[in-house]
Amino acid sequence: MPRYQPPLRDLHFVLHELLQVTDVLRQLPAHADIDTDTLNAILEEGGKFASEVLFPLNRTGDEQGCALDTATHEVKTPQGFKSAYEAYVAGGWPALACDPQYGGQGLPIVVNQCIYEMLNSANQAWTMYPGLSHGAYECLHAHGTEQQKALYLPKLTSGEWTGTMCLTEPHCGTDLGLLRTKAEPVADMPGTYRLSGQKIFISAGEHDLVPNIVHLVLARLPDAPAGSKGISLFVVPKFNVQPNGELGSRNAIHCAALEHKMGIHGNATCQMVLDGALGTLVGEPHKGLAAMFVMMNAARLGVGNQSLGLTEVAYQNAVAYARERQQMRSLSGVKSPQTPADPIIVHPDVRKMLLTARAYAEGARAVAVWCALLIDQELSSSDQTQRQECADLVAVLTPVIKAFFTDNAWEATSHCLQVLGGHGYVREWGMEQHVRDSRINMIYEGTNTIQSLDLLGRKVLSDGGKRLRRFGAMVQELIDQEGVDPQMQEFINPLADLGDKVTKLSTELGFKAMSNADEVGAAAVDYLRVIGHLVFAYFWARMARVALDQASSGDPFYAAKLHTARFYFAKLLPETATLIRRARAGAAPLMAMEESWF
Ligand SMILES: Cc1cc2nc3c(=O)[nH]c(=O)nc-3n(C[C@H](O)[C@H](O)[C@H](O)COP(=O)(O)OP(=O)(O)OC[C@H]3O[C@@H](n4cnc5c(N)ncnc54)[C@H](O)[C@@H]3O)c2cc1C
Repeated sequence: MPRYQPPLRDLHFVLHELLQVTDVLRQLPAHADIDTDTLNAILEEGGKFASEVLFPLNRTGDEQGCALDTATHEVKTPQGFKSAYEAYVAGGWPALACDPQYGGQGLPIVVNQCIYEMLNSANQAWTMYPGLSHGAYECLHAHGTEQQKALYLPKLTSGEWTGTMCLTEPHCGTDLGLLRTKAEPVADMPGTYRLSGQKIFISAGEHDLVPNIVHLVLARLPDAPAGSKGISLFVVPKFNVQPNGELGSRNAIHCAALEHKMGIHGNATCQMVLDGALGTLVGEPHKGLAAMFVMMNAARLGVGNQSLGLTEVAYQNAVAYARERQQMRSLSGVKSPQTPADPIIVHPDVRKMLLTARAYAEGARAVAVWCALLIDQELSSSDQTQRQECADLVAVLTPVIKAFFTDNAWEATSHCLQVLGGHGYVREWGMEQHVRDSRINMIYEGTNTIQSLDLLGRKVLSDGGKRLRRFGAMVQELIDQEGVDPQMQEFINPLADLGDKVTKLSTELGFKAMSNADEVGAAAVDYLRVIGHLVFAYFWARMARVALDQASSGDPFYAAKLHTARFYFAKLLPETATLIRRARAGAAPLMAMEESWF
């Protein structure tokens, strides 16, 4: 039977022992009265909801999928999804990190981060419904008019309505500058537009969980310049909302078909048709992409978190299986004489697969919680310089979290499947679902290639490496602090070495890019992985420090943490040597091939 145990001990470690989040949050006026007990109590309850309510629906959601009634255009979600959603709303969970002005509880983003990790472990497909709603909430909160905020934010905050992001069209995914959906002003209704066009692959575009769905749609105004500078953002509800907030007529946006797909079957992936649907402009005309980026950035971090969740649940199930499954004897002598064979957890390569998943999950948890804490500081610090510094770090971290976590999860879930052998490949144990579910995370919200171009081109080279150097300064500070401690050498030396190599590589790529822009495209994916490792190595070194300080406690948690850090540095980090070599190999091996030779 698949299982899921909320990783509360490790969450407490990251929150309180590694990052001291309560102290950091208390410096912020908005969270001055936060306390550790409250944080822990929320996490415990969230973990219960994830493991007891959502996890049992993961398998059935995958098997049943969603169903479209082609006559009514209504979509039915898998059995149990609606009642779980009602329980989620009744528990006040959607409102956790929302603005009290709109009915939110005003808790820090850090809390949402931890809760969402557990929800994702339990059921990624289900979690996408409230997850996207929160992104829509953030976008409208940042860019909506007062009237839009008053109409939509209280319902998105409470979870009574859900949200979507409608960007993709059949002919344009990555290149949104090509999009064709039109928005025509309505003559007698200033600020109101009729939208026509087709959107595809819209997650949670139609479903039966709530009475109204708030679509955030990218479209072109009649006078729009061509390309991405001519895109505007609109809010288009499924049911028009009257000025008093009550639902009015059905709007002309509907689901024409559902996609049949590899994973996340419980989430409705919809083809949406807009046939003169009424919408109102969000933000300024032609500046829709910038406004939408609020939702896209939140969603990118959310996708990284999905992959953290899947890595954790796959790891837990692989470990449980490896303890029980008996095959062959240990190479170094019998370990379990009372049984006909040893449990497979004795075999080195099985351990490598388990530890890979564990090191990626625990590393990702530390980085994700830190990033959430940076966002809290960016949003609420009274110190403008600190806000900017945090914003710079979040900008660099966003593509790394999206792409590095999701690539790692694909590898880690695949390893976990391998641990189960043939039993991983068949459905009974639930492992193949985690592999299938994890694959989409590398594609949506901008493919991982696009994330790498964002990192190298827009976040590093465009400002001469200034933002990245903020992180570099933190690395240097840790090296200065810990480099003298002999116990820390095994972590600090490779971290320092990688830091130097990243500086050289970034400079080299900057020079190459000046003469040939394809050099950026040729190096970017490998470069992002190198930066991902730099961030993980920094956090694994810090986690090792905490574990060393607690070594005398005799608590096996710290011994395991230290061993996982050692595994990370010995077996995963060395990948950077190959990655750097590949990044430096340049564009020629790719671009010298004539197109007709393929
Ligand atoms: C299940 C699912 C759910 C989704 N949910 C949503 C949603 O809710 N809302 C929404 O708007 N969209 C959604 N999408 C769409 C998703 O965001 C797009 O599929 C994704 O952005 C890629 O676009 P595309 O599929 O058109 O691929 P394309 O843009 O055609 O790209 C094809 C390949 O070319 C590569 N490529 C393209 N340009 C470059 C370049 N400049 N350099 C290097 N490589 C490049 C890409 O990386 C990719 O590998 C969803 C998709 C799926 C499958």
